Amino acid sequence: MKAAYLISLLSERGWTENRTNPDLVLCIGGDGTILRAIHEYMDQLDQLSFIGIHTGTLGFFTDFTEDELVSMLECLKSKPSMEEYSLIEAFFPETGNTLYALNEIRLESISQTLSLDITIDGDYFEKSNGSGICVSTQAGSTAINRSLNGAIIDEGLSVLQLVEIMPIAHRNHHTLRNPYVMRKDRVIELRSEPMREVICSYDNLKYKLQGETQVVIRLSEHRVRFARFRPYSYLRRLKNLF
Ligand code: NAP
Ligand code: MN
Repeated sequence: MKAAYLISLLSERGWTENRTNPDLVLCIGGDGTILRAIHEYMDQLDQLSFIGIHTGTLGFFTDFTEDELVSMLECLKSKPSMEEYSLIEAFFPETGNTLYALNEIRLESISQTLSLDITIDGDYFEKSNGSGICVSTQAGSTAINRSLNGAIIDEGLSVLQLVEIMPIAHRNHHTLRNPYVMRKDRVIELRSEPMREVICSYDNLKYKLQGETQVVIRLSEHRVRFARFRPYSYLRRLKNLF
């Protein structure tokens, strides 16, 4: 389905298109499309909500299928309930830079071992040697976290999940290895030698580190809102994954 077609259907029904200051952002595609839209409107998240129309299999962030267009247009007349999801953030104290994500934040080095000292709430936790770490939200638990053998976190639970990416383990060095699902107010601090060959991925975006030695990851106060015009079944979506 082309956006132009949906726009024409909506304008026939009295809606106006406003790409710079929208109240409602309609996304046609998959979960990846919604992630891109969220990042596009990152600095306006408190003024708008999202609704997704999926063109593939039912995603976690999409509510309507293409062939439900007519019923979606009907639904748009009613008042939606708003479902809020907290973002996760990575703060770089040396530069003052903050990155936000809905699914997850990853610190990753592909070709060289990345050695990270992990402190949680000020307590030293472990030294992770491997390809890096992934910290995901509840919403992100079904995304790359799942491929990293992280746990699926049920809807409605507000937690953070830390998993290591390809950890090195031998007689003299081991780490927790299991996914650590932690309280939402935990603060994860990572320290390392100056990181230059390290990428910080945040959802579909990435930032190449410039020699930073410190990253602080926590749940953000910023949230994204999804407009729900009808009941949402998490289990149906979960079943669609496999
Ligand atoms: P992308 O093509 O936009 O997405 C990759 C796949 O991840 C797509 O199938 C997408 O679903 C799915 N996905 C995204 N968010 C999800 C969620 N919360 N729950 C379940 N599935 C989800 O790829 P990208 O631009 O590189 O990265 C965007 C996101 O994709 C990242 O945040 C990452 O979590 C995820 N990703 C996953 C893997 C993996 O599982 N191995 C690899 C790369 C990236 P749709 O088809 O509905 O868009
Ligand atoms: Mn999909």
